[in-house]
Amino acid sequence: MRITGINFLQKTNYKNNQYDYSQYRTVLNQPAARDTFTFSNKVSHPSFVGKQEQISRDPLTKLYSEHLNCLCCGREMIDPKVITQLDEIGVFRGSANDAIQILQQYEANMHTVEQSVFKILKKEAELNPDKNIKQIIVDLKNTHEKPLRQKQLGIFKMIDRAALKIKPELHKEIRNYLIKSAETIKEGNNSFSRKRFINDIEEILKNYPNTTNKENLIRLAGKLPTAYDDADAFIVKYANPRYKSDAIAIRLLSYSMATIEHIHPLDSKDIKGPNHLYNYVPECKRCNSFRSNNPMIYQLEEYPEMFINAQNLFDRLIGFANAGKLSKMYIIKLYKALYQESEGMLDLDYSKLQMTNDLQKELKKPYEYPVNPDKPNIIKVKPPTFPKPVNFFEKPEQQPTEILPEQMYNRPLISKRKQKRITANEANKTTRLKPASTKTKKSKGQKKTTIKKSHTKK
Ligand SMILES: [Zn+2]
Repeated sequence: MRITGINFLQKTNYKNNQYDYSQYRTVLNQPAARDTFTFSNKVSHPSFVGKQEQISRDPLTKLYSEHLNCLCCGREMIDPKVITQLDEIGVFRGSANDAIQILQQYEANMHTVEQSVFKILKKEAELNPDKNIKQIIVDLKNTHEKPLRQKQLGIFKMIDRAALKIKPELHKEIRNYLIKSAETIKEGNNSFSRKRFINDIEEILKNYPNTTNKENLIRLAGKLPTAYDDADAFIVKYANPRYKSDAIAIRLLSYSMATIEHIHPLDSKDIKGPNHLYNYVPECKRCNSFRSNNPMIYQLEEYPEMFINAQNLFDRLIGFANAGKLSKMYIIKLYKALYQESEGMLDLDYSKLQMTNDLQKELKKPYEYPVNPDKPNIIKVKPPTFPKPVNFFEKPEQQPTEILPEQMYNRPLISKRKQKRITANEANKTTRLKPASTKTKKSKGQKKTTIKKSHTKK
């Protein structure tokens, strides 16, 4: 179920000089968007020619082994084939120590929550070398359930407070539901479903028209910790008997796996993004899932590092194109698609691409959505034209008139206190009628008077 008309994405937190991507999520956490590569899709390499080559993902999936960095979060992505192989070997089903030795190689690729869970696992595995990952997670459940519950109950309190601001009848209804949910949490977190909770809150809100406060309520519900953004929630969730050791180990890696992102989403409000090479860009599974069908603008708003990371990936892809491993036309089409989808915000630098006349011509052409002949685009609404984004380094047309130093600093060159002192000195001199003691002193006084005059003139 989708909520319309509100921003799905939560704010990111800036911690330790880097954005904590764990906070970046949709209100409704869908495990994976439809346009995400999943394990069941084994990577295939049939040889495509001509038009089919343009539609196929292969030119990009072939580059997965090159340790590409994610378009959005910039993390080095894991080749899905590597994960499939590790799964097939069965290394994660054995002792935690063995599994950890393998996982260790991919620690830097992991996202924030996965990294913290991995650190906890590592510590526990040292103490219990004979246990497997599942047994360790089950042991850890008790210690992590309490802090999770505290966070959940905290959010419940916030929701209760927000509901009070809407209507007394609504508050009563919401409070009853919160009390019921709190009891479920107390009994053990396994029976509590965050998704169901959000849906139920939405159902209750349906009968109340006040929009702004309602959005706040749903936003708060969306802040309930999940395995995607909270280590406690991760441990509690995966302690459930239905998850085995190998599933947990793979879960630690899979969100860093390389996937194909649809630049124009498969199902946005303007256009059904086509399945076409020129609409594809590599992105990690997490960023891909969490963007879902939202416009790229949301990603940029929530994750400003993307301005740098997108250019880094683009530079890598240009390198492959110059080396003949990727079509140069793809680079130009990618540049244009990213520019269009980001409403001109992502204006990447393609100067490193070895240009040809054809590419120059393509650059000058107005933007056209890529079309898959098998499944033509469905344009729902004419995509909006966006004004040219501001160029902060463009020189203003008018030359500024000469600015006096005083105007420049927007304050007198001499402070008020100093000015007072000078005036007092002058007054003393005239009242005392002292003969000038030394020449130097007098000249100093004169100098000050001239400064004073220039100031009072103004
Ligand atoms: Zn990413």
